[in-house]
Amino acid sequence: MELVEKILKLKKEKRAIILAHNYQRPEVQDIADYVGDSIELSRKAMEEKDAEIIVFAAVDFMAESAAILNPDKKVLLPSAGARCPMAQMLTVDEIKRWKVLYPLVPVVLYVNTLASAKAYCDVCCTSANAVEVINALNAETVLFGPDHNLAEYVQEKTGKTVIPIPERGFCPTHLLFHPEEVQVLKEKYPDAVVMVHPECNAEMRKIADFIGSTSQMCKHAKESPAKTFIVATEEGILHRLRKENPNKQFILAYEGAICPNMKLNTLERIYSALKAEKHVVTVPEPVASKARKALEKMFELTQR
Ligand code: SF4
Repeated sequence: MELVEKILKLKKEKRAIILAHNYQRPEVQDIADYVGDSIELSRKAMEEKDAEIIVFAAVDFMAESAAILNPDKKVLLPSAGARCPMAQMLTVDEIKRWKVLYPLVPVVLYVNTLASAKAYCDVCCTSANAVEVINALNAETVLFGPDHNLAEYVQEKTGKTVIPIPERGFCPTHLLFHPEEVQVLKEKYPDAVVMVHPECNAEMRKIADFIGSTSQMCKHAKESPAKTFIVATEEGILHRLRKENPNKQFILAYEGAICPNMKLNTLERIYSALKAEKHVVTVPEPVASKARKALEKMFELTQR
């Protein structure tokens, strides 16, 4: 039996659903029940009342959020080594240090953080709703982590003082994009729309026609009359963009923009994880309850 068939059979027997982040390998996206960004996927899992197991093809912090929001389900991460380096950049000690310096300032954390960090913040946000969350807060200054590029972008958009914690947290994949390479592509495709993720640096954001999260890019690509897009985010998104828009052309702004951690989830690992019900992601109490509060506060402020 083909590996895909074996996975689908096992999935049915075990009442499992497979969720794949937009940055997953094409073959992993193709067998998933849902493909999307981390919060979209966690919410999908909440709607799947009959599912007993969630196979979350993504990285550690996303599986943790799914486990926090779906305490009655078993969450499996196909590769135990799929860890986001940016999430590791913000430790609880670092948050405590900043809280001492700014005791009255709210702490807003990007969902790309570990549950232990989320437990120490007032509210979470995604790259899609960071501006909305910070605008909704009754505060002119916020501590924001761990991505300093997203912090800078949110400061530009809201006019508030957004202090990055740590000072230079970053996504190694999004730092690979440079305007010079985009310029070369623009000469070849002069009508192309340049879509840039807010985790990219300020120079990249300056040359963007559209700045947005992966879900916002997918929406923009569908709605825009443009036929060609230069895309500055992890290469996995191209599979979804091409599938959803077969008559449009998508070009990666830098060919090496691959997140090695996301790519650790293979079909083989998904099959083994489902078969052995490994690697189970759990978040202990009281961390889970505190982190859930921060995620729920985000849903409340953004009404979704
Ligand atoms: S693309 Fe960046 S933020 Fe996303 S998992 Fe990879 S390193 Fe982390």
